Amino acid sequence: MQTITRIADLRDVVTDWRLGRQSIAFVPTMGNLHLGHASLMAAAHLHGRRVISSIFVNPLQFGPSEDFSAYPRTPDDDGNLLREYGVDALFQPTVEEMYPQGSAGSTVIDVPGLTDVLCGAFRPGHFQGVATVVVKLLCLVQPDVAIFGEKDYQQLTVIRRVVQDLNLPVTIVGAPTVRAEDGLALSSRNRYLSAQERAMAPSIYRALDQARRRLEAGETAYASIEAEGLASIGAAGITPDFFEIRTAARLERPTELDVHLVVLAAGRLGKARLIDNLQCTAPVRE
Ligand code: AMP
Repeated sequence: MQTITRIADLRDVVTDWRLGRQSIAFVPTMGNLHLGHASLMAAAHLHGRRVISSIFVNPLQFGPSEDFSAYPRTPDDDGNLLREYGVDALFQPTVEEMYPQGSAGSTVIDVPGLTDVLCGAFRPGHFQGVATVVVKLLCLVQPDVAIFGEKDYQQLTVIRRVVQDLNLPVTIVGAPTVRAEDGLALSSRNRYLSAQERAMAPSIYRALDQARRRLEAGETAYASIEAEGLASIGAAGITPDFFEIRTAARLERPTELDVHLVVLAAGRLGKARLIDNLQCTAPVRE
């Protein structure tokens, strides 16, 4: 595996691959890799002759009171995992390489509507930062396919929209969420949890699963399902940010005629902010 830190070197590698007509699949990450990331690398091999990943903790997507400096950085373990998963190249730039004008002075990508709801309401500027770095990375890597986890469902939806709106020549593929045996979605931020908090954390998945069952049984009392979800997360000791039912394609509030739904939840537990979601298909109504 080649590890590349400079944009100029990345361009050389990508140009060689493209001249050789080798398709490229790309998996952007912030590092501290776990089996959720590994599943994305495995998916990438199904979509590209060459697989490239990036590790970049993007300052633009962290709020002033968030964990940018404390975000776990484990480059040696990450390199081993990427090699194990047959990744051809790792792009690991510095902040200065990505934002030579400084992160505050850079051009940004704004996605109206989608970015100020759900997580965006609690993390102002977060999705602008995500959209900006993803567009920059897509311009640099020029992949045929880029893989993102459904774990970050709103992020995936924002990226699909950006790619559509800006006519970027890349196919976005969503990969299923990888979970621990007790249902907790794997996340780099789970390492912030104490043993006691770790035992409480799966309640977010259980609440989502209960909501999914009610929706798949044909219930349309969305407010009541959301209230039950909020209450059960709260009762388990998690401070909920939201528990909402949305349309799977556009993250809009559903009507009774919508069939493809997603239930999304976020909450704070100790030093961690947990997010999770489950998609479901409601029965078709005549
Ligand atoms: P991150 O390093 O947390 O920014 O995540 C990098 C990519 O991995 C994103 O596309 C995430 O959605 C995805 N990802 C993170 N956790 C999981 C998981 N448990 N299952 C599947 N994909 C994941």
